[in-house]
Amino acid sequence: MFMFNANTNVKVHWIGLTHTEMREQVSNLGQQHFRADQIYNWIYSKKINSFQSMANIPKSFRTTLSQTAGFHPLSLVKITGQDSSLTRKFLFELSTGEMIESVLMQEGNRTTACLSTQVGCAMDCDFCATAKMGFQKNLSVGEIVDQFLLLQQESVKKITNVVFMGMGEPFLNYERVIKAADLLNDPDGIDLGARRITISTVGIIPKIEQFTKESHRYKLAISLNGTTQDQRLQTMPIAKKYPLQMLMKAAKNYYETTKRFPTFEYVLMKNLNDEIADAENLIKLIGNLPCKVNVIPYNEIGGTYERPSQNRIKRFVNILHNAPFTVTIRWSKGTEIDAGCGQLAVNTGGVQL
Ligand code: SF4
Repeated sequence: MFMFNANTNVKVHWIGLTHTEMREQVSNLGQQHFRADQIYNWIYSKKINSFQSMANIPKSFRTTLSQTAGFHPLSLVKITGQDSSLTRKFLFELSTGEMIESVLMQEGNRTTACLSTQVGCAMDCDFCATAKMGFQKNLSVGEIVDQFLLLQQESVKKITNVVFMGMGEPFLNYERVIKAADLLNDPDGIDLGARRITISTVGIIPKIEQFTKESHRYKLAISLNGTTQDQRLQTMPIAKKYPLQMLMKAAKNYYETTKRFPTFEYVLMKNLNDEIADAENLIKLIGNLPCKVNVIPYNEIGGTYERPSQNRIKRFVNILHNAPFTVTIRWSKGTEIDAGCGQLAVNTGGVQL
């Protein structure tokens, strides 16, 4: 556990600390616990931007806070998309210099923040722009939660949903992602409902098992993208380590243990997994497992893979209408600004803030 120290220049950021951690830190600085409660409220409920805005904290302690610890672990570098756009992409710089992206999407009454969990990604899915960056590092809890707080500041509407589907594989940064989700969910802080938080994985089976065992109330989404082991292997190297049959077993166990429906994400790619037989195989593969299937027509990134025509998309989805599970189609937003699913890769060009 780190300690704030008034005598060093090393700065830790307050955003990302839990209530308990804040209490520890104010004790280290010679203050009583109620000061931590106040700071927690200012940061996560009131969502203020600096120690100086904490009106009920004595000025001298505010100065100590700003001398011993940082506030935002991220700096906003660039926003792509107009204020009025349904989708906007945000480029952030970490205090260590790396860049990440997040996306804000508006649809009806729903405002969704799509958050990154790693800088780059090691999973190397062949259709994904993030994969081309390679893996650089895991984000801290603060760097994950700060994306939400900074996006909320830029959003006219209250953010109603969070999806961990930005850069990175969330289950390879499991502890921090769960801790960040817990902070987003805390009724004394940000207070976002657990069922409004979705964690997506390419299929890291031991972590799906851990998530099941720990009985988290957050939604679980699994990227399927193929209906046979061979088909998944074509685009997702991780399928070699965690084969399809075992993945489906883990999903079934998740439902049977928690009684919560998993979501299967299915990125639809032309001539790869969008045939009539693929839709039929998908129905067979899932069988009677209670779940939701989210079909995402592929967003092209200038590589080998193509988005199917509208007719092929409709044909695929029509077959699924006979299935016992719920099917939704995500007409992924933001493709014109490379903010669609699988399109996040740091691009620092354009107007800087
Ligand atoms: S699709 Fe997700 S898991 Fe796969 S490389 Fe891209 S960011 Fe990583």
